[in-house]
Formats: sequence, structure tokens, C-alpha cells
Amino acid sequence: MRVHVDEDICQGHTLCAMAAPDVFGLRDEDGHSYVIVTEFTTEVIESAKRAALTCPEQAIVVED
Ligand code: SF4
Repeated sequence: MRVHVDEDICQGHTLCAMAAPDVFGLRDEDGHSYVIVTEFTTEVIESAKRAALTCPEQAIVVED
């Protein structure tokens, strides 16, 4: 299981980082999202799925 953000799609709305600040960070230079965790625990995956629902661009990919 892993989570990643499609950088070609992400527009930097910040909603994912607000929904799951334990999973997503925002780059200083453009505000785009990136995954800050390296271990994809069940809690991380569930948190990422909730955040993915908030993303207007559907840029968050959760692979089960
Ligand atoms: S909500 Fe979606 S578009 Fe916005 S920063 Fe997060 S991944 Fe990117």
C-alpha cells in the first residue's frame, strides 16, 4: 500500500494538508502537496483516503 500525489494534476489547494496534516505537506515554492510519511500504515491509508475525497483535482492516489 502506498500513497502519492500526481504532481502534474495538483493545483495546491491545500485541502489535503488540512484534512490529513500527518500525511501531506505543502512545498514552500509552489504550495503543491507531497507525502511526508514513509510508512503506509492502516491509519495513514485511511487518513489519505479521507483527504483524497477533499481534493478537487483528484490528484491523490491511494494504492491498496
Ligand atoms: S487538495 Fe489536491 S490539488 Fe490541493 S494540494 Fe492537495 S493534492 Fe494538491
